[in-house]
Amino acid sequence: MKIISIAAVAALVATSLFTACNKAPVSDAPTDKPSGNAALVRAEADPGIPEKKVEISANDQMKFDVVAIEAKPRQKITVTLKNIGTIPKMSMGHNLVLLEKDVDPPKFVETSQTSMATEYIAPELKNKVIAHTKLLGPGESDTVSFAAPKEPGAYTYICSFPGHFAIGMKGVLTVQ
Ligand code: ZN
Repeated sequence: MKIISIAAVAALVATSLFTACNKAPVSDAPTDKPSGNAALVRAEADPGIPEKKVEISANDQMKFDVVAIEAKPRQKITVTLKNIGTIPKMSMGHNLVLLEKDVDPPKFVETSQTSMATEYIAPELKNKVIAHTKLLGPGESDTVSFAAPKEPGAYTYICSFPGHFAIGMKGVLTVQ
């Protein structure tokens, strides 16, 4: 199996070299792409169910004003998060990150707290996120639409800015 795939890659490289002609030299051999990740296949919204729109405020007290959302499986949900605080984003940014059921939220925030470049969502945990907004500074808002998961249950949403979840910046999406 391994031998065959190496041979195939070699053949591919050879072909690209032959067909490259006037193009820039082929720098890299084709790399294996990760195979399809089942966790990344999200439910599609059921057009037969009316869309659910939710507006949520986040504030300098590190709280969401909506801490419970109910939806039907595959219902389209549109969440608008607004940061109504005044403290600069660097020290008081807010986002809303909806997590898969199999994720332990404290673990998620712990792993993500150093991922400043990706707005405190650790790249290796991205497939555990059902939907998320941008990280917002004061006065900013962001809207995100997604389908509620197919599987009924309680899904936690959090603000992943360091320290906020621990203070209670979280809520629950109940799918039933
Ligand atoms: Zn926050």
